[in-house]
Amino acid sequence: TETLVEVDDLKVHFPIKRGVFLDRVVGHVKAVDGVDLRINKGETYGLVGESGCGKSTLGRALLQLTPPTGGRVNFDGTELTTLPAKQLRSMRRRMQMIFQDPMSSLDPRQNVESILTEGLQAHGLGGDRTERRKIIAKSLDAVGLPQWALSRYPHEFSGGQRQRIGIARAVVLNPDLIVADEPVSALDVSIQAQVINLLEDLQEELGLTYLVIAHDLAVVKHISDTVGVMYLGALVEEASSDDLYRQPLHPYTRALMSAVPVPDPEIEDRRERILLAGDLPSPANPPTGCRFHTRCPWAQPTRCRDERPGLRIIGTGTHRVACHWAEQIESGEIRSHAVKA
Ligand code: SF4
Ligand code: MG
Repeated sequence: TETLVEVDDLKVHFPIKRGVFLDRVVGHVKAVDGVDLRINKGETYGLVGESGCGKSTLGRALLQLTPPTGGRVNFDGTELTTLPAKQLRSMRRRMQMIFQDPMSSLDPRQNVESILTEGLQAHGLGGDRTERRKIIAKSLDAVGLPQWALSRYPHEFSGGQRQRIGIARAVVLNPDLIVADEPVSALDVSIQAQVINLLEDLQEELGLTYLVIAHDLAVVKHISDTVGVMYLGALVEEASSDDLYRQPLHPYTRALMSAVPVPDPEIEDRRERILLAGDLPSPANPPTGCRFHTRCPWAQPTRCRDERPGLRIIGTGTHRVACHWAEQIESGEIRSHAVKA
């Protein structure tokens, strides 16, 4: 497998400004704080975590839509963080984004044809009008929208169809990578599967690589080859989708998974429910040591509070976990001290 994206120690720290002229920096929100990951060509990387964990900021920083404050992003052999603006602009075509709420990301005053034309023109693509129309017609076809959609406006479509327009706007530029930020979370459950299936078909057809961001583990499970779990600006676990769902090792991942209902009532009755105490701490003032120690049902005295665990490979494969006690928790040697519901 070939790597398309390589992220190395990526950081996005936003200054917290105070004073009449907002000229006093009193701290930083560490939205992304040292993330390493790779996305292989033609694959899907699923990134999950609670809202506020930094996953959207990571997606935007990867595309340089939000400038990273540290670390590197390599895209198909090109270092993006140091790329001059002009070259970055031409790279942009290859890296597109799909948003959660297509209603707010599509201009209500533009019809579908002009929405799709805009991107092509911005990148100097599509040649003359006839050529452009052909490309646009093809991308409408690809996302399963009829040609009469071209003259219609976003509000004339259902939520699912609007997301198809958002996807068409991305694929019309023939990108290599699509970052999809919560692509189905604003949609009815019955429509979610259709949009996920569409993304999968397009991947196959067009050889796309995806970073799919979601707060819902169920959404990324089937579509992802690799899944990364984020907590307070850092990856706490990463594994192939199969390994992660079969054997989640990080306490935070276990807690997230235990919140997803299982369709089989017998399993549903017997399985463990891990309730996390408290809210997500502020990324402006993250806990010391393991950032999860304030909520972790397995936290051990002093080490969890004092020493920050890095991601390390557990076992022989590619399963990476940032927990000092992953093995002992797995074997049951260290037990959860949480109240179970
Ligand atoms: Fe929990 Fe400690 Fe592991 Fe962090 S290092 S996840 S606090 S057991
Ligand atoms: Mg978000």
